[in-house]
Amino acid sequence: MSVADAGAGRLSVSFECFPPKSAEAEVKLWETIGKLAPLNPDFVSVTYGAGGSTRDRTHRTVARLIQETHLKPAAHLTTVAASRGEVDGVLRQYWDAGVRHLVALRGDPPGGLAEAFTPHPDGYANATELVAAAKRLADFEISVGVYPEKHPESPSIEHDLDVIRAKIDAGASRGISQFFFEAETFLRFRDRLAKAGIALPIAPGIMPVTNFNGLRKMAAGCGAHVPPWLERLFEGLDDDPETRKLVAATTAAQLCLKLAEEGVALFHFYTLNRAELTLAACRMLGVLPEAKEQAA
Ligand code: FAD
Repeated sequence: MSVADAGAGRLSVSFECFPPKSAEAEVKLWETIGKLAPLNPDFVSVTYGAGGSTRDRTHRTVARLIQETHLKPAAHLTTVAASRGEVDGVLRQYWDAGVRHLVALRGDPPGGLAEAFTPHPDGYANATELVAAAKRLADFEISVGVYPEKHPESPSIEHDLDVIRAKIDAGASRGISQFFFEAETFLRFRDRLAKAGIALPIAPGIMPVTNFNGLRKMAAGCGAHVPPWLERLFEGLDDDPETRKLVAATTAAQLCLKLAEEGVALFHFYTLNRAELTLAACRMLGVLPEAKEQAA
């Protein structure tokens, strides 16, 4: 049974993609966007590579979303390896291109989280400072990253809550969570926020993946816990992509349905530039294509 069958209202979804590296990947991304656009997402966000490595590609992808689709883009931006002046320049460029929604992030150290983060000597030190800078420059809508399992560098859950409060005070109006695999993880996080009186709307970040080894690496890179039951589900399927896909679609849909049953109404999908698993999970949530003329 989908949530729509259960009589719930339409849920809001958003999709994350990354800027393509090659002409072939670019074709794949725009096919994906063409398939996801009829679901009428709140926005499509485009990531920003470590140290600004995708700066131009992120900008081009966002500009194309504005020029060629009805979709609202959200451009990611990080503080890594850039002075305040450089970051402000990117912010101005985004605003002038018609971008009105940012996902403002500190970014990871260029060598990954094993390294300590060192801000650029003349740069913004964290996401809160970036949010404040963006708000000073123009009236962007701003989403920020939040961590149901705590940010790996953070000394405590309480400190994480203080950081979320600081991001809200600086102008953030939405949180997007790091990915996680058990509904309880997000629901406990939601309870902590409610108890602390933090009313920021937060979309759980859903990562539907078929490549379990890739997933394990990504999870290790950002401190997300991979439960043993998930590992067991993918055991022995390395050479069986069809079954892997079915298992991935089922686990993503189960996670989404459980969250929706608990009243979660916003969902953010890390699409990895692929449509099928996200389409399947959205369908199970009752989020179906809208009128044809809405499509990209
Ligand atoms: P912050 O909120 O600045 O927090 C980083 C750390 O500093 C935390 O441990 C926090 O507790 C601590 N901290 C923050 N403020 C203070 C303070 N005032 N005093 C003391 N400690 C403080 N990375 C990319 O490179 N490109 C992307 O496009 C990208 N997209 C992402 C999208 C989402 C939805 C998420 C959740 C993450 C994304 N990331 C991306 C990864 C992100 O950059 C990392 O998780 C990074 O380690 C933290 O970013 P943040 O914005 O949460 O940082």
